[in-house]
Amino acid sequence: MEVKQAEFVMSNSDPSRCPKPDRPEYAFIGRSNVGKSSLINMLTIKHKLAKTSQTPGKTQLINHFLINNDWYLVDLPGYGFAKAPQREREKWERMIDSYLKNRSNLICTFVLVDSRIDPQRIDLEFMEKMGERGLPFAIIFTKTEKSNTNAVQQAVKRYEQTMRKTWAELPPMFLSSAVSGRGREEILGYIDQLNKE
Ligand code: GDP
Repeated sequence: MEVKQAEFVMSNSDPSRCPKPDRPEYAFIGRSNVGKSSLINMLTIKHKLAKTSQTPGKTQLINHFLINNDWYLVDLPGYGFAKAPQREREKWERMIDSYLKNRSNLICTFVLVDSRIDPQRIDLEFMEKMGERGLPFAIIFTKTEKSNTNAVQQAVKRYEQTMRKTWAELPPMFLSSAVSGRGREEILGYIDQLNKE
């Protein structure tokens, strides 16, 4: 898929005020610093579409972008921010819960994980929750250019082994790098395929 148009639509803390669910929607989520904003910018070839962690005043909002006037890309606030107070975390949970429960046009959520670290409980728990709700998701391994091929393969294998313990079927998995552009065609191709189903 070619990204011809990518525009910011709105930011929200209230999921009920998101744009009308009149187009297929794909959400991106992961732990803070996993590389979510960089990946979104890489996918859309817009350097500043999603605000990266370094951006001052980055807040916990649901950000909608319209791609090719055809589908929504959603940048969800990251989780697992070590310094976040309990109150903030609860607020995040309520917001995300409500978003996932009510967004009727949500086709797939991409859960981003860092390819250099072992499966983390917080990520696995989030995926479990998605499973319990019957919501489809896929995993994107980020920052793969930082390790050699073998280490990246091992990272994927560790996820597969861990997930096989509880899942009958494994989700689609993608390898990505915002630096090299790796994974762009595969992820956009997957969205294209789902859009056509
Ligand atoms: P977010 O908090 O998940 O949105 O993460 P950001 O996109 O802001 O990235 C967090 C940090 O990781 C920044 O310093 C990025 O430059 C860096 N980063 C993101 N993606 C990559 C990548 O593919 N490769 C490398 N080497 N660094 C990355």
